[in-house]
Amino acid sequence: ASKRGGKMRCTWFSEDFDRNREAQRELDGELRKALVKEEFVLHYQPLVHADTQKIVAVESLIRWNRSQGDPIGPHIFIPIAEESGLINEIGLWVLRTACRDALRWSDIKLSVNISAAQLRNPEFPIQLGQILEESGFPAERLELEITETCLVLDPVVAERSLDVIRGFGVNISLDDFGTGYASIGFLRQFRFEKLKLDRSLVVQAEDDDGSRAMMLSSITVARALDMGVTAEGVETEAQAAMVRTAGCDQIQGWLYYKAMPAHEVDELLESSAQPQIENEPLNRKGV
Ligand code: C2E
Ligand code: MG
Ligand code: MG
Ligand code: MG
Repeated sequence: ASKRGGKMRCTWFSEDFDRNREAQRELDGELRKALVKEEFVLHYQPLVHADTQKIVAVESLIRWNRSQGDPIGPHIFIPIAEESGLINEIGLWVLRTACRDALRWSDIKLSVNISAAQLRNPEFPIQLGQILEESGFPAERLELEITETCLVLDPVVAERSLDVIRGFGVNISLDDFGTGYASIGFLRQFRFEKLKLDRSLVVQAEDDDGSRAMMLSSITVARALDMGVTAEGVETEAQAAMVRTAGCDQIQGWLYYKAMPAHEVDELLESSAQPQIENEPLNRKGV
């Protein structure tokens, strides 16, 4: 089988490709049904203040309770829903549900992920405005997490929409920073209220000087531009200490909390157990 000709390999590739497309179409059909059958649920992951470790916000993260078959995570099904456009409907469901749930968590913010396809839809700001009005959720407590893709694909429409959305009082966070093309110049150009450092950057910064320098300089620029900075995917005390010292004001990660169903957030916020700090908070300036 080692001497397979070029032509043969090509056929193999295209068959693979077709099979992939077919699988994607099938999954998209299943996602459509899942929306009708109400198989989606939102979980919420708390973000804590870097120094006090108090919960300051929750990020909504979609889950799919499949009636049959293996569980599939959002990193698989969201891109498929983006390609077919179904993300528009899913995204509105997410916003409606998250605003309804978070209405009762009155002291903290709500962060919702928005995909590029949603932001490219010129109807989106109007729809968001309606959801805010219907739910009674205060716009000042809402943050939308977008990625650089949103702005690279169609910067004119995206910026116009972001202006309208900001006009409501909603904040914009740049998600997954450090994974793609978004550079420090990007931060100055678009002015986000918050920067979220991707987990991969946090992990690399631990033992790679270049990555640490990049993390530190992005934080410096973000702070100079009055942006908040959240470190994502913090799993260890060492990582928490590093990002705290580096100047992150919020931390999100399994070290503190995993994503959980809404009723668990209720309990968490009610219990006086938060925050349960065992270690002395590090003195940022002293290190
Ligand atoms: P994201 O917005 O960057 O969300 C953070 C992801 O990191 C979540 O994965 C979260 O569970 C995970 N995470 C948090 N802390 C840790 C940690 O300490 N260690 C590790 N290893 N992982 C951690 P999840 O829930 O699987 O979501 C994956 C991605 O799917 C999200 O990345 C986001 O891009 C997308 N997504 C999730 N929900 C939605 C949604 O409602 N709408 C849209 N458009 N995208 C969504
Ligand atoms: Mg996010
Ligand atoms: Mg992220
Ligand atoms: Mg991420």
